[in-house]
Amino acid sequence: MTTLDEKIEPIYKAVLDRNPGEVEFHQAVREVLESLGPVLVKHPEFAHYKLIERICEPERQIIFRVPWVDTHGKVQINRGFRVEFNSALGPYKGGLRFHPSVYLGIIKFLGFEQVFKNSLTGMPIGGGKGGSDFDPKGKTDGDIMRFCQSFMSELYRHIGEHTDVPAGDIGVGGREIGFMFGQYKRITNRWEAGVLTGKGLNWGGSLVRTEATGYGAAYFVDEMLKVRKDSFDGKTCVVSGSGNVAIYTIEKINQLGGKVVACSDSAGYIYDEKGIDLELVQQIKEIERRRINVYTEKHKHAKYVAGGNIWEIPCQVAMPSATQNEINGKDAAMLVKNGCIAVGEGANMPTTPEGVKVFLDAGIAYGPGKAANAGGVATSALEMQQNACRDSWDFAYTEDRLHKIMQNIHKDCYETAEEYGAPGNYVIGANIAGFIKVSRAMLAMGVV
Ligand code: NDP
Repeated sequence: MTTLDEKIEPIYKAVLDRNPGEVEFHQAVREVLESLGPVLVKHPEFAHYKLIERICEPERQIIFRVPWVDTHGKVQINRGFRVEFNSALGPYKGGLRFHPSVYLGIIKFLGFEQVFKNSLTGMPIGGGKGGSDFDPKGKTDGDIMRFCQSFMSELYRHIGEHTDVPAGDIGVGGREIGFMFGQYKRITNRWEAGVLTGKGLNWGGSLVRTEATGYGAAYFVDEMLKVRKDSFDGKTCVVSGSGNVAIYTIEKINQLGGKVVACSDSAGYIYDEKGIDLELVQQIKEIERRRINVYTEKHKHAKYVAGGNIWEIPCQVAMPSATQNEINGKDAAMLVKNGCIAVGEGANMPTTPEGVKVFLDAGIAYGPGKAANAGGVATSALEMQQNACRDSWDFAYTEDRLHKIMQNIHKDCYETAEEYGAPGNYVIGANIAGFIKVSRAMLAMGVV
């Protein structure tokens, strides 16, 4: 672990003391604070006005009961969260995660990351995150609808197009957003498109939003490769996960000339040396909502490894797109040893601090999630723009906007890293560039 600047060490200690047990939040905070020492030297006013301390404290944290009745008539109780982290740059913006592992520490880590990510997009959006420990796996559509309705029956009081605009994340896709939008509309009697993003295309959604995180992550890696006078062309790639981000990462890698040979879910991975059949993965995951192991029913030559470690597969580009801390130090070392030259994080914080160190020490192109996966939220902001002027743009135009945003994020991170004496280090570039934009806005607004 890198040591912290002496001015920053006590700030981190206070975060640990004030937020006991929230290990993912501690990890996310530390990773940003490790980059900020030189910023305080250049900008002593940020220290004077306690910008770092303020940014580490969410503006508002909401925790609520979510009672609902399942298909068998049994009462179920879950816990709901919305952490409204920072609104200096715009309304709170960030997804909702439905997964049994969700607790306050995970939502706070995601909300904290979101503040910097949203700042990097250059769009007028603050940072927030929410979700529930509800497990959507194996639930009927009726269960999902009743849960979403109950969740929104509390959440509606805290959100709005100018206040807080949730979207999807793990376990929350178009179906869930639809149920939540319906309940919001019913309770408030307002057809307020801008209150949620990731909506269906015929009721206020934006083209490219579904594809945006995966496409954007692949574009970010493409930019990193271009700097090294390289490209995706002919590269063997591994993408973990098989959900929204993974599927569209695979699609864009294919379009850019790479070949993805493996993807996964939480039970195991598929290795297909001929290249992953994306249409089949979409059929299994998006339509049938089954497990990835059934891939081998159609493709007998492919291999399914239950409980396997996908990072054992040799590849030149790795794109973790499942969940946090899925690449540890050992996995990272194995990737580098096997010839990996670029890592682009579709997921949020998928690499442990030990893993990040391995990538940086090896000098490979490493794009951290808060920069590489910002295309999703950026396109959500484009959805908000279309909603605000009751317009809808075509696919090519919207994708072109996304592409340019990703190129700008890359440039911003790259140039900031150079300016702060760490050329090629996108972790430092992303953290500093994201932090400075939010801090300047907060400074201008006084102590609030
Ligand atoms: P999905 O729910 O669509 O897919 C998640 C995928 O990751 C599934 O294949 C799932 O497998 C796997 N997964 C989830 N949890 C675990 C776990 N604990 N261990 C191993 N595998 C796991 O989610 P998304 O694709 O939307 O999100 C993936 C990542 O991308 C997350 O980190 C999210 O925060 C991040 N992200 C998403 C954005 C978006 O626009 N959707 C935007 C920016 C970042 P299984 O089905 O077995 O659970």
